[in-house]
Parts: sequence; C-alpha cells; structure tokens
Amino acid sequence: MNYSEFIEKYASHPHYKAPTGNQLQARSWQTEAPLRMFLNNLDAEVAEDPANLIVYGGTGQAARNTDAVKEIIRILLEMDENVSLLVQSGKPIGLVRSHPQAPRVMIANSNLVPAWATWEHFEELKSRGLMMYGQMTAGSWIYIGSQGILQGTFETFVECGRKYFNGNLNSKLIVSGGIGGMSGAQPLAATMAGAVFLGVDVDAERIKKRLDTRYLDKMTSDYSEAIGWILEAKEKGEVLSVGLVGDIGDVLEKLLSDSIIPDILTDQTSAHDPLHGYVPNGLTLKEAYEMRKSNPTAYKERSLKSMARHVGFMLEMQKRGSITFDYGNNLREFAHQGGEIHAFDYDGFVPKFIRPLFCDGKGPFRWVALSGDPEDIFTTDRELMKLFSENEHLIKWLTEAQEKVPFQGLPSRICWLGMSEREKAGLMFNQLVKEGKVKAPIVIGRDHLDCGSVASPNRETEGMLDGSDAVSDWPLLNLMANTGGGATWVSFHHGGGVGIGYSQHAGMVVIADGTDRAAECLSRVLYNDPAMGIYRHADAGYEIAIENRRKFDMNFNL
Ligand code: NAD
Repeated sequence: MNYSEFIEKYASHPHYKAPTGNQLQARSWQTEAPLRMFLNNLDAEVAEDPANLIVYGGTGQAARNTDAVKEIIRILLEMDENVSLLVQSGKPIGLVRSHPQAPRVMIANSNLVPAWATWEHFEELKSRGLMMYGQMTAGSWIYIGSQGILQGTFETFVECGRKYFNGNLNSKLIVSGGIGGMSGAQPLAATMAGAVFLGVDVDAERIKKRLDTRYLDKMTSDYSEAIGWILEAKEKGEVLSVGLVGDIGDVLEKLLSDSIIPDILTDQTSAHDPLHGYVPNGLTLKEAYEMRKSNPTAYKERSLKSMARHVGFMLEMQKRGSITFDYGNNLREFAHQGGEIHAFDYDGFVPKFIRPLFCDGKGPFRWVALSGDPEDIFTTDRELMKLFSENEHLIKWLTEAQEKVPFQGLPSRICWLGMSEREKAGLMFNQLVKEGKVKAPIVIGRDHLDCGSVASPNRETEGMLDGSDAVSDWPLLNLMANTGGGATWVSFHHGGGVGIGYSQHAGMVVIADGTDRAAECLSRVLYNDPAMGIYRHADAGYEIAIENRRKFDMNFNL
C-alpha cells in the first residue's frame, strides 16, 4: 500500500484507526509500533475529540495539527532503524543518526523555560501554531482509553476503604466531578471496589460515552432521580454507578442542603486548565465554548471563582465527615487562586494512598496487543497469572478486568507492577511473541504518573519527606535512563495532569517483538524505569525505598 492509500485507509481526518494483524506497513516493528500507537491514540473509540486531535485530559493532543499528523505517518512508514525521529510539541522536526537499540522516536512536548511557564504564555505560543499541550500519554502515544487509569483509581478507592472503612466499601457513597477521558474510569473503579458512585459532569455526551463503553451503569439529568437511585442502592447494599449531568459545585451545594454527605469525596474535572478544561458555574456548555473565544480573561476569572466555590463545598463536606482528597487535577491550586484560602486543607491522593507503592518501584505498567486481537491480551493475562501465581491481588485484578473492562481501540491491559516484576513480565511477553503464542508484537509502556518519572509538587511529589517536591532533575534522569536503556520511544513533557507551570515528567514505551535485541532493551529499560522510583524515594529518605535498594542490590554494586 502506498502512502496515499495508507492515509485514506487509516488516517482520513478525523477518522483514525491503527492497522492490525501481523503484516508490516512500516519497515520494521520498531517503527510500526509507534505508528500504530499514534493512530490508536487518535481513534474515536479511544480519543475524546479526534477532530481536534484531542486525546484526553482537557486539551491533551497527539500531534500539533493535521499536517504534522500526516508527516509523522509518512516518516514512520519510511524510516529505518539507524535513525531516530524528533518530535517537538507534536510536530516532526528532523531525524538524527542513531542505531537499532536506540529509541526510534524522541518526543518533547509543551516544555517552557521556567520563568515563562504559564498558561498565558503557552496559549500565546499555541495560538501562533508553535506548541501543543501533550498532557501525559496523549502526546507520547500510549493512551489506552479510560482503562489506563482504571487500576490506579481502583487501588486508590480500595486503599481508602482499607484505611477508613475496615476494608469494606459496601453501601459507601463516593462522589466526584468529571466523567471524561480519565475521570470516566471512576464509576467502574468505584463499583469494582464495591461502592456506590455518583459522578457529575456538565457534558451529557461525555457521560453517555462512559455508558456506551460500560464504565457507567446509569445516567440522568434529574438530581432527584439520581439521588433516588443511589440511596436505594446504598440501602440494599448494591453496587451502582450513576452519572448526573450538571455542575459539580451546584450538585455539592444541593447534597449539603439535603444533608447527603458522601463517605468519600474527590474530583476529576479538568481543573488543571481553567480556560479550556473547567466549565465555570452558571454557564451552559454552549455559552462556555463561546466565552472561551470571546473573552478568555473573564472566562478564566469566572473559572477560578467557581473552583473556589466548588472547593468551599468540598471543605464543608470534609468537616461533616467525608473522607476528602484531591485527585490530581490541581483543583486546590486554582481554587486558592480564586480566593479559597483553605483550599489545601485536604490532602492529595499520592501522599494519602499511593506513595508506599512508589517506594516499591510500583506503577501503572500497561501493554497493548499490536495484532488488534483481544485473544492476545487474554493470553498475556493467563501467562502473567502463572508468572505471579503467588500474587492474589494481581490475579483478582486481572480476572475482574477480563470480565468488566471493555477494550477501546487496540486491546490493552494495565496492572501495577514493581521492581523486578516489570522486567520479568516484559521478558515473558517477548518470549510469547518469539514463540508465536501471540499474533504480533506487544508494546509495553506506562503513564507518566509513575514512581520515578515525574516532578509535580501538587500531585506525585506532594509533601516529599525531604521537601524536594519541586526538584525536576528526577524525571530528566528517568528520560536519560530510558533513552540509554533503549526504549522504543521516549518523551519529556511539561504541565501534564496539573497544568502548565506545575509539573515535568517523562514517558517511555518499549517493544517486545520477540527478537534478542528487544530482550536486551526490555531487560535494561524495565530495570531502569522502576529503579528510578526507588532511587528517588530512597534519596528523599523513605525507609521502604531504602530497604528496597538493599533488597534489589542497588547500592552501587557494579
Ligand atoms: P477530560 O477533559 O476528558 O474530562 C474532564 C471532565 O470534566 C469533562 O468531561 C468536563 O465536561 C468535566 N467538567 C469540567 N468542568 C466541570 C464542572 N464545573 N462540573 C462538572 N463537570 C465538569 O479530562 P480527564 O482525562 O478525565 O482528566 C480529568 C482531570 O484529571 C485532569 O485535570 C487530569 O489532568 C486529571 N487526571 C488525574 C489523574 C490521576 O490519576 N489522578 C489521571 C489522569 C488525569
């Protein structure tokens, strides 16, 4: 198939689809893999808004514009294994000489010199076509739909249950805002954890997408109907998730006046972006879209005020007994800027629930079957359960995920694995490819929200033991470690999760194509990546991580 035929079949804007099967379109699997994953990120089954190249997380894009999309495709189809493609904020800018064990694609998205790192400066550059917002996995081509955050969200709810409700979330009500790309994982994670869930989103279409993909049980625009459903489910001890169309601030206000106090309260609206993410109170969606264009300054001001009001209600809920935590969207920061001086009076989810996992080098390990065949994922699930047969928690997760998690785009799976486990899993997958037990290669990647790949003082590195929250040498070292190790593509982004100015983070994807070369790269990368989490947390003084350095023989023992 020539280039034009390829574009027509797989990338006729806005209809994107990754090729499937085991026939190469590019010159090797090392370039076929990023090509398929790039197209998969833009597939309407996966992406929130392919027409604007938006994958998830407010305005997180896969490429800068449609010309850049076509050019990235053309180059990936043609390049060989002795060059690497450079992508600058979603635009391909050149090739550099490299070698078969080097990354095939090197990506830098949304990076700005610190003193210029504001949404305002970013927006100005973006309006002149000079930048794009890469979020985390949008611009680094390893977004896998809502499943990507599902296990992390599930782990958070389960841990919250363990910590505050004797490990039992039966008849417990979780309330949250946002049912979009990643936030849409909340309803399913909550019901998998055994709870009742009420999610609120201003955009009915977003809620409907989660209903269609079976992440959500029921939806309504009627507050009383939603409350009726959840109270009944609570009473009967049934699991249920309900999506309610509305403004989260308004719904919290009503819940307070009706004295319905959630057991657990959080939020995942796109608060990290006060202009293009959060929708201010009192505006219809249509009015909001218009005002974003006609008066961005007034919009942002209104957005900040609404977030202050929203957080004010969350603080009141906390006073009345809700276990309240921030869920990584920087809502507290912008509420603070909007005038809520107590915004930081509740904790973020990482220090509250996740940091001990990071100290074990654990994080969101994900993989995708490039064949497009769900059976390949089921094969990897079974083999993983054999490989880690003593890990009951993992087996339970994989069994439930098989039953309850629908695939979006190329079939994929996520599960949190730590030091040594990731390497074992990667090498096992490579063996499955080599022996033909799966139909095509598998790519292994992760969210940038990982143990050693991000500096984000209001999220992953909030409240570090030694106060080193804002030190971003760590994600840079992570990038270098994964480049040196031979990941298939690497990325360094700014502003993911919490917005421009608030985070820097690195991503990596590595292919298991059944070759000896892949085995060498997998072994190095899947050692280096979690090792960075252990080094980072040991250096900050966390005992578990210090112990892990000893346990895994990581104390400069060459
Ligand atoms: P998204 O843009 O796809 O979805 C956000 C949703 O919030 C949208 O559907 C939008 O309609 C809704 N919304 C905006 N303002 C609202 C309001 N006032 N009331 C009710 N709903 C409102 O984004 P996403 O991918 O779901 O990510 C959501 C946020 O969570 C982002 O800030 C992202 O950075 C963050 N995030 C956190 C984690 C984590 O693990 N904690 C992971 C991924 C993303």
